[in-house]
Amino acid sequence: MLKIVYPGTFDPITYGHIDIIERGLRMFDQLIVAINANPGKQIFFSVEERVDLVKKALKKYKERIIVEPFKGLIVNYMTKRNINIILRGIRTTSDYEYEFQMALTNRHLCKNIETIFIVASEEYEFVSSSLLKEIALLGGDLKYFVPRVVENAIRKKIKAAKLRLD
Ligand code: ADP
Repeated sequence: MLKIVYPGTFDPITYGHIDIIERGLRMFDQLIVAINANPGKQIFFSVEERVDLVKKALKKYKERIIVEPFKGLIVNYMTKRNINIILRGIRTTSDYEYEFQMALTNRHLCKNIETIFIVASEEYEFVSSSLLKEIALLGGDLKYFVPRVVENAIRKKIKAAKLRLD
């Protein structure tokens, strides 16, 4: 069985991520969405919430997808799971530079790890989790960017934050 790990922050999952996952599923039998519990950036949703949203957004693929959090180095997680292929998505040339550096670093840390890149679909090329949070804060429509379940979770979170500030 061919397995691949798709690691990321998924804060929250977007149609851009889902596009990469669907393309990955065409090549691999099983895909593990590994959610970084402690990314080195500010997060909007807790790791439990991010896992839950990914599971809900990918419900129709649940036989072929595992969603779980990981802590620490992705290469250590991969070794523990006995999988050696990482999937990442590329949107822009700046993504490429960062991803290229990460892939070489991971290979340096663990020599049999390979990274496979899938180019984002043009439709979702500009979709990013950070941009959509800004759109949501400013009251914009999110349906083009995320599934309904994610949109509802974002709105709920923003409402709760506003109530706390009032
Ligand atoms: P990280 O913090 O690890 O970059 P992200 O959740 O931001 O986590 O991204 C995970 C992966 O998904 C990255 O490889 C990123 O380039 C890719 N990705 C994010 N948004 C999109 C998109 N709209 N289209 C294609 N790939 C994407």
